[in-house]
Amino acid sequence: MTLLEVRNLEVTYPGGAAAVRGVDLSLAAGSKLGLAGESGCGKSTLALALLRLLPAGARVTGEVLLDGEDVLTMRWGQVRAVRWAGASIVFQGAMHSLNPVHRVGDQIAEPMLLHRRATAAEAGRRTGELLEHVGLPASRAAAYPHELSGGQRQRVMIAMALACDPRLIIADEPTTALDVMIQAQILRLIEQLVAEQDVGLVMISHDLAVLADTCDRLAVMYAGRIVEEGPARQVYEDARHPYAKALSAAFPRIGDPASRFAPRGLAGDPPDPSELPSGCTFHPRCPEALDRCATEDQPLRDAGPGRQAACVHVEAPGPGPTADAEDARSTT
Ligand code: ADP
Ligand code: MG
Repeated sequence: MTLLEVRNLEVTYPGGAAAVRGVDLSLAAGSKLGLAGESGCGKSTLALALLRLLPAGARVTGEVLLDGEDVLTMRWGQVRAVRWAGASIVFQGAMHSLNPVHRVGDQIAEPMLLHRRATAAEAGRRTGELLEHVGLPASRAAAYPHELSGGQRQRVMIAMALACDPRLIIADEPTTALDVMIQAQILRLIEQLVAEQDVGLVMISHDLAVLADTCDRLAVMYAGRIVEEGPARQVYEDARHPYAKALSAAFPRIGDPASRFAPRGLAGDPPDPSELPSGCTFHPRCPEALDRCATEDQPLRDAGPGRQAACVHVEAPGPGPTADAEDARSTT
């Protein structure tokens, strides 16, 4: 069975911001899905919706099936069980959310004591194992957060996420605040843990190069929708949607300082989700827009084996040459 299956997920914040608009996703156990897109495209909203962590007042519709059970319609008791044992989120900048006055070992052990009813001795032993698992000596359990470096704190956060053996890990910009070397180490660590423990990973980043290097599949999000999805390397190296092309051009390699900047060649910002443009929401920024893009919504369509893209220029592969190929032939 698919570990995670998201169907037609929509999230609207109070005030009418449509932050996630009809997202479908699917993730097998042991596989890694990257979710990319500029700041404001709805990535964190999507992540929070998966575990019902959105603020009260956010309207959520659709289905989030975790092992076939819809998280959105579960009783709260079940949702809590899922959060502790089914799925964990490593948040953007989460390393700053460690409690400064408690030893990190106690913070890792806490969910085991609360939700697994482990004894103090069991939780202590498991905490040591988890720390070693993320590459820290077990003795660091006695440290306070300020005694650790940023990379070490992020490792502690990952140990916390692993504490109850989740089946799904959602990592929302887990390395954005770290320097390049540490970033690469943490990504390797997450990759390795996913491979060893057969968990599923949803990794969120604005940096397509990082995701292409870490994940099996890649979904590119714009204005609350997935605009392209497919095998990670193909989406990164040969994007079909103009937005995905701009993103991949902006992030030529992992750790490039340019990855802090806006996508190359794209003016402006993603639209405000309470005032979305008509037609294809990307058309005002799109270098390849046609007149009809301002009025015609572009759904995801077949863009080759295992690939989809939501662009007027993407023709469903048919038996004969595509219209684009014919155009190209007649003009050359
Ligand atoms: P990303 O993670 O891709 O940067 P977010 O999911 O954080 O995007 O935000 C998507 C959109 O939803 C943004 O326009 C943001 O301003 C809006 N948004 C996020 N959180 C809230 C909230 N609590 N209330 C209203 N709007 C929000
Ligand atoms: Mg975010």
